[in-house]
Amino acid sequence: MNVTAQSVWENCLSFIKDNIQPQAYKTWFEPIKSVKLTDNSLSIQVPSKFFYEWLEEHYVKLLKVALTRELGENARLVYVIKMENTYGNKQPFTEKIPSSNRSHVQPQELDVPIKNKSPELKNPFVIPGIRNIKIESQLNPNYNFENFLEGDSNRLARSAGLAVANKPGGTSFNPLLVFGGVGLGKTHLAHAIGVEIKDKYPEKTVLYISAEKFTQQYIESVKKNTRNDFIHFYQLIDVLIIDDVQFFSGKTGTQDVFFHIFNHLHQNGKQVILTSDKAPVDMQDIEQRLLSRFKWGLSAELQSPDYETRVSILRNKLYRDGVEMPEEIIDYVAKNIKTNVRELEGAIISLIAQSSFNKKEVTLDLATQIVEKFVKNTKREVSIDYIQKVVSDYFQMDVSTLQSKTRKRHIVQARQLAMFFAKKFTKASLASIGSQIGKRDHATVLHACKTVDNLAETDKQFRKYIDDLTKKLSQ
Ligand code: ADP
Ligand code: MG
Repeated sequence: MNVTAQSVWENCLSFIKDNIQPQAYKTWFEPIKSVKLTDNSLSIQVPSKFFYEWLEEHYVKLLKVALTRELGENARLVYVIKMENTYGNKQPFTEKIPSSNRSHVQPQELDVPIKNKSPELKNPFVIPGIRNIKIESQLNPNYNFENFLEGDSNRLARSAGLAVANKPGGTSFNPLLVFGGVGLGKTHLAHAIGVEIKDKYPEKTVLYISAEKFTQQYIESVKKNTRNDFIHFYQLIDVLIIDDVQFFSGKTGTQDVFFHIFNHLHQNGKQVILTSDKAPVDMQDIEQRLLSRFKWGLSAELQSPDYETRVSILRNKLYRDGVEMPEEIIDYVAKNIKTNVRELEGAIISLIAQSSFNKKEVTLDLATQIVEKFVKNTKREVSIDYIQKVVSDYFQMDVSTLQSKTRKRHIVQARQLAMFFAKKFTKASLASIGSQIGKRDHATVLHACKTVDNLAETDKQFRKYIDDLTKKLSQ
């Protein structure tokens, strides 16, 4: 049989594989390529200097035994270090290091590439020893599928998440992009997928990271000249979860490095999960090539939960906290807090707290006060200008028409409605409302409010105008 670099290396690999853990084999030996065989020296190509140091540090004995079996006592190993993703530098950086010349490498705990600023957070990059290669997943076990309640608003995203968790990298949902507004469960779902994967496939390396932290680490790595280690680290991951990728907007360096990491992971059948507060089409200042990658897999939207889902989220929260609450209160909270699960939880938590601190019964009255606070605090201030704009748009006229002196009935009605809503939704005085809506006096505004009240009771069509406009103005 012809002895080639490849055949020698393959024999070495099968020996090595039998002697170390599968995960370690996969991480440190699969990426190696054999390059050349001259006499009794075999050249192998490794992806970074860091990689070479790690092999020398941890596997030199094993390598020696393996190679001696193949090439005899005088066997030599030559490393070729090849950075495959060297950006802005087309010529790969190549360095040959004969293993016999190596200086002794100090035993070290790997600390690549960046230290965390806050000490209480675990450094995601500490790999505490070869026998137990472990990258801290940074997952929050409290965010799991079990307590991520299903509803029409999240069904697609949730089941795509479950499919990905069952077969990471093995579905067409790669990347899986979960998008939706604030407080709708993106972070929760992202963790849940990771937690589920860790549960099903403990040997897989999962990493959750916010786009913001990823960016900080990248910038730091550039400063410290450890960009290749940064890239290398991320290329080792089986399931990469990046939260809030809209944060990459306008950050071309980070986008570039992420693009390369993404391609590497994707090509190697690794799973990527992303979240964003916008759909890919609405993302700004993100490079086209990256956006097109986002669209390769599945984009699934999280929408505002419907009433039933809001009720079950509330019930579940109360159940987990072991708190009982009258049905009418749950119903009241679910009816009045509509857009955001975080607020929904916030309101119920304050309710529980209020009632236990003050030893008060949770009454509908207390619920009303608390919900009002929540809704008021989050509602954007409506201005008189805005009201005039909304009312004019609704009746398809210009603001100047609405303010004009004309006595045409439909214009007068629009003007009166604008005054009525200005009184209802702002703290402005009658006089001030009058002066802003076509320079009228306070008596005119008062008359307008009374007229609207009357018509609301007697005129069905007019009632509908009020309801429609109330909805538009409370959005
Ligand atoms: P986002 O990342 O989209 O801003 P989060 O994932 O932080 O939102 O969710 C906000 C809060 O709402 C979290 O406490 C989360 O547990 C909760 N939440 C969101 N969606 C659900 C759901 N479907 N079931 C249960 N809790 C949810
Ligand atoms: Mg979030």
